[in-house]
Amino acid sequence: MRYSAFSIVKNALSGNLNWKPAWRQPEPKPFYDVIIVGGGGHGLATAYYLAREFGLKNIAVLEKGYLGSGNVGRNTTIVRSNYMLSGNEPFYEFSMKLWEGMERDLNYNAMLSQRGVINLYHNDGQRDAYVRRGNAMWMEGVPAELLDRAALQKMLPFLNFDHARFPIMGGLLQKRGGTARHDAVAWGYARAADRLGVDLIQNCEVTGIRRENGVVTGVETSKGFIGCGKLGLAAAGNTSRVGEMADLKLPIESHVLQAFVTEGLKPAIDHVITYGAGHFYISQSDKGGLVFGGEIDGYNSYAQRGNLATVEHVMEEGVAMIPGLSRVRVLRSWGGVMDMSMDGSPIISQTPIDNLYLNCGWCYGGFKATPASGWCFAHLIAKDETHPVARFLRLDRFERGYPIDERGAGPQPNLH
Ligand SMILES: Cc1cc2nc3c(=O)[nH]c(=O)nc-3n(C[C@H](O)[C@H](O)[C@H](O)COP(=O)(O)OP(=O)(O)OC[C@H]3O[C@@H](n4cnc5c(N)ncnc54)[C@H](O)[C@@H]3O)c2cc1C
Repeated sequence: MRYSAFSIVKNALSGNLNWKPAWRQPEPKPFYDVIIVGGGGHGLATAYYLAREFGLKNIAVLEKGYLGSGNVGRNTTIVRSNYMLSGNEPFYEFSMKLWEGMERDLNYNAMLSQRGVINLYHNDGQRDAYVRRGNAMWMEGVPAELLDRAALQKMLPFLNFDHARFPIMGGLLQKRGGTARHDAVAWGYARAADRLGVDLIQNCEVTGIRRENGVVTGVETSKGFIGCGKLGLAAAGNTSRVGEMADLKLPIESHVLQAFVTEGLKPAIDHVITYGAGHFYISQSDKGGLVFGGEIDGYNSYAQRGNLATVEHVMEEGVAMIPGLSRVRVLRSWGGVMDMSMDGSPIISQTPIDNLYLNCGWCYGGFKATPASGWCFAHLIAKDETHPVARFLRLDRFERGYPIDERGAGPQPNLH
């Protein structure tokens, strides 16, 4: 069933009783050409592009919970392509372009809102770093704009410009950046993949990876053994656990990241704003809630919840940037498990094991990467060839000494 104005009217006239489920609930077949582990944004997008772009027919996504129960439904929904390093920027810009055509492509309203992302700077050194980043973006053909204090004051009068310790001097703006409705992205890819015949199997936990003569032949799951020709891992925060099933020790640590939403307000913040004096970012959802977050909790964990010390820290940063926030009530907070890589950049790669492919290392930033990650992972699995924009994202970069350290923080996952 295609979604359209016509289908809304038609279904309304019949009491909305004839909508079809957005995807089927199939039982697993004994064998698939490709199995993807993880029904998050990346796993679902990979399955969709495998079927649509590369013509594969016999594909399954195995999800241990329900589709979208992981980070894809827990993030703060920011999409942008304002990276500096050539290992990252072309990849994220490819993603941005896919975002711009996604809703039409999937026939699903992902509520993409290109409202502009502004990174604030508070000192000369930070301004110079943003100038460099902006220039690097322009070199890849991606527009960026440096805003001075006067321009910012006009756009965002509610910011604390004269904070004694962190006065705001200006910001770097990417106008095409913004937000998208996170779970709609998961649902859109799921529905579109299902329409192309992909089996989306929920409540199916992968518990083991079977290998014969060094080659992957299938997975043990809570629904029994399922054979496969190729196996793609897109388990985000659980990557190291799933990797262990194939004796892979990966350069990934899992950390908790929390996020928060306030009561609904009238339109107040019409950009995505990030604080340069700490790690804080905020935007307003279409429902009116202010959605914000800060840093990871700082210790390794697989729990989808964080601690109160970080809650306090995030609130302090928010109020330092926007004093008026202290008057708003927070409705909810939650956490997700982040697959933090050693250099803060993702991995889309073959592995030392035949027929086993890896997609992970998304740190804080994997939501914006969803379409490009799916496309490039599908390209790799289907053709056994790295997509050109993902050519620097291989697992062996750590052995070869080619990390992509966007933040310059060194080989320490919790600092990226
Ligand atoms: C609070 C928070 C805020 C964030 N904000 C942003 C942001 O603003 N912008 C941005 O770009 N990124 C953001 N991110 C990061 C982004 O959400 C993630 O990087 C991205 O969603 C990860 O990819 P995914 O969607 O495939 O992951 P997930 O949705 O986590 O998918 C992985 C799936 O694998 C499943 N799985 C794991 N193990 C198994 C198994 N053994 N068997 C079967 N299934 C398994 C899990 O259940 C899960 O559903 C944020 C993350 C969090 C937690």
